[in-house]
Amino acid sequence: MSEKTPKLRTALDGIPTYKPGRPAATGGRVAYKLSSNENPYPPLPGVMESAVAAAGSFNRYPDMACAGLMAELAERFSVPVEHLATGTGSVGVAQQLIQATAGPGDEVIYPWRSFEAYPIITQISGAASVKVPLTPGEGHDLEAMLAAVTDRTRLIFVCNPNNPTGTVVRRAELESFLDRVPGDVLVVLDEAYREFIRDEEVPDGIEIYRDRPNVCVLRTFSKAYGLAGLRIGFAVAHEPVAAALRKTAVPFGVSQLAQDAAVASLRSEEALLERVEALVAERTRVFDGLVGQGWTVPESQANFVWLRLGERTTDFAAACERAGVVVRPFPGEGVRVTIGEQPAMDLFLRAAEEFRKEL
Ligand SMILES: *Cc1c(COP(=O)(O)O)cnc(C)c1O
Repeated sequence: MSEKTPKLRTALDGIPTYKPGRPAATGGRVAYKLSSNENPYPPLPGVMESAVAAAGSFNRYPDMACAGLMAELAERFSVPVEHLATGTGSVGVAQQLIQATAGPGDEVIYPWRSFEAYPIITQISGAASVKVPLTPGEGHDLEAMLAAVTDRTRLIFVCNPNNPTGTVVRRAELESFLDRVPGDVLVVLDEAYREFIRDEEVPDGIEIYRDRPNVCVLRTFSKAYGLAGLRIGFAVAHEPVAAALRKTAVPFGVSQLAQDAAVASLRSEEALLERVEALVAERTRVFDGLVGQGWTVPESQANFVWLRLGERTTDFAAACERAGVVVRPFPGEGVRVTIGEQPAMDLFLRAAEEFRKEL
C-alpha cells in the first residue's frame, strides 16, 4: 500500500467541529433535551399527512426548483419568487452565501459569541473570520463591526436574535449600520428565531431587505415550525444574490418530504402562532424565575435563555443533567438553555435555584 494519503486543503486544518446539543440521557430517569433550541411540540397539523403522502414517491428525485414551496413563500411574505432560494436548513443556505461571496484572501465578519456554524463555514471557504466581541450587555457591537470592515470584507452576519445570548438588534441601530456598510458587502440578517420576537423595536428583515440590494434574510423551518429534522431553510435576497444561491445549491438537496412539510406548516399558521405564544409565555416564566433567584439574564427574544457562568459553566451543566435536563454549555463562557415543555423548565428552575444557593 502507498505511504501517501490524499492531499487535503490546508484551509481545513483546525476547523472546529460543530457540536450538536447532547441528547437527553435515557436509562429510566426523566430527561429532557434543552440543548439544541428544538421545538418541543410535534409537527404542525397536516405535516404528518403530507409526509406519509411524500413517502410514496421516495423513488423519485424532488422538485429541484422547490416550485410549490417558492410560490407559497412568495405569497406569504409578499416577495417575488426570483428573490427566494431554499437550502438544506438555513445553515446550508448560509454556507451557499459564503461560497458565493468569499474565498482565500477575503474576510467574513460576525459577532462573537454567536452561532457556532459561522466560523466553520467561513473557514471551509478559505476566507478569514473576523470575530467582533459582543458588548457587555451580550449584544452585537455594530460600531465595532463597522470599524472592522476592510477592502477584503465580503460578508457580514447579523444574528437577530443572537444565538446563544438571545439579544436583539433594534431598527434604528440596524438601519444606521446598514446605511454605512459599503454597498458591495453582503449583510446577512440571520433570523432563525424571528417568530419568537415580541420586542416591537426589532425590525422584520424582510421589510429591511426590500430597498437594500446588499441585504439577505435567512429564515428556517427548524425552530418555530418544528421541522429541524427535515433540513429546510430559505433566503430572501435581490438578484443577483438569489441567483448565486441557486448556483451554489447542492442539486436536489432539499427533499420532497421537506418541501411538502414546509408548505403544510405554512398553511397551519394559526396552530403555529399558538405554540409560539405558549413558548414565549414559558420564556417569560423562566426569565422571571431566574431573575427572582438573583441571576443576571439578558432579556431573550428567542426560544432559549443565556446564563454567563464563566468558570462555573460545566459544573452548572452537570448539575442540570443530574436534575434531568440536558443544557448546552460553552465551557468557560456560559450555558444556553432551550425553552421546552413546562415540566422540563420546572426541573431546570429548581436546579438553577439549588446551584445558586451553593455559590
Ligand atoms: C438554529 C439556527 C439556524 C438554523 O439552522 P437550520 O440549518 O435551519 O436548522 C440558523 N441560524 C441560527 C443563528 C440558528 O441558531
